[in-house]
Amino acid sequence: MLRTEDRPAQHPQIVGQAIEVHRWVRQARAAGKTIGLVPTMGALHAGHLSLVAASCQQCDATIVTIFVNPTQFIGGEDFEAYPRNVPQDLKLLGQHEVDLVFIPTQDEMYPAGSSTLVLPPDVAQPLEGLCRPNHFHGVATIVLKLFHMIPADVAYFGQKDYQQTLVVRQMVADLRISMRIAVCPTVRESDGLALSSRNAYLNEHQREQALALSHSLQVASQLVQTGERESASIISKMRQVFADAGVAKIDYIALVDPDTLAEVRQVNAPTLATVAAHVGDARLIDNQLLEP
Ligand code: AMP
Repeated sequence: MLRTEDRPAQHPQIVGQAIEVHRWVRQARAAGKTIGLVPTMGALHAGHLSLVAASCQQCDATIVTIFVNPTQFIGGEDFEAYPRNVPQDLKLLGQHEVDLVFIPTQDEMYPAGSSTLVLPPDVAQPLEGLCRPNHFHGVATIVLKLFHMIPADVAYFGQKDYQQTLVVRQMVADLRISMRIAVCPTVRESDGLALSSRNAYLNEHQREQALALSHSLQVASQLVQTGERESASIISKMRQVFADAGVAKIDYIALVDPDTLAEVRQVNAPTLATVAAHVGDARLIDNQLLEP
C-alpha cells in the first residue's frame, strides 16, 4: 500500500492506455515498491475484492484491471450481455487501498488488425477447453498482454476458476515470466453458492437451483470423508443432486488430478471435484479439493 502522502489526489487513479500504466509501474518499481495485479472483467463482487484485499496486504501498490475480454467468449456466449458497471466497480475499489485502475478500450487491447493469439498449454484442453473451444486461447492472450503492460511482482487469481490458474501458472513457467501467481480461495454466499458476476442472470428460482453446484461438491466431500473412494459412485451421487434440483444441462461433473486435470478412478490422493452447468441463462462453474 502506498503511504497516504504518496498517493495521487484522485484515488484510485484511473488510466486507459497501456503506455500510461506501463510508465506508472516502471516508476513505482524504480521507487522500490512491490506491485500486485488483479485482472478482472468488472461487475465486481466480494470474490474479486478478496483478491484486491490480498494484494493490498501483501504488496506496496495494487493495480486492478477491468476489461471484458471478447476473445475468451466463444460464439453464442454472453459477451454482449455480460454485466458491466464501472461506476459501481470504482466505488467498491475506492473502499480498498487500490492505487491504479486500468480500464482499457477494446482497441487498446486489440489494436485494429491485430491477429496474434497465444496457444495455451496442454492443461487448457480438458473440461472447460472441451466445452468452450478456444476459451483459454483468449484467456492466455489477454493475461499475457496484461503481464507485458503491467510487469507486477504478483498477480492474483481466484480458485473458482481453477483450470485458469493452472493455465496461467504453466504459461508463466513456460515463457519464463518473472511474476508470482497467487491463488485465493473461492468466496461464497452463506448458503454455499460461489460468487460470480453471472449470478446476476439468475431469478429467485434459478438462484435456488444454482445451489446444486456447491451442494454436489459438499456431497462429494462428505462421501470421501466417510471412506468412499470410487469416483464413479461419487459422481453418480453428485449427478443426483443436480437431478433433484431440476438442473439438466450439465457440462461436466469430474474428479480429476489437481495438477494435470486427468480423470481419476479412485480418490486415494488429493483430488479436485469440479462441475459446470447451465442454470437459466447462466453458465456456472465451481470446484473443491477432496482430501481423503
Ligand atoms: P472475472 O472477473 O470473472 O474474470 O474474475 C476475475 C478474478 O476473480 C479471477 O481470478 C477469478 O477467479 C476471481 N474470482 C471470481 N469469482 C470469485 C470468487 N467467488 N472467489 C474468489 N475469486 C473469484
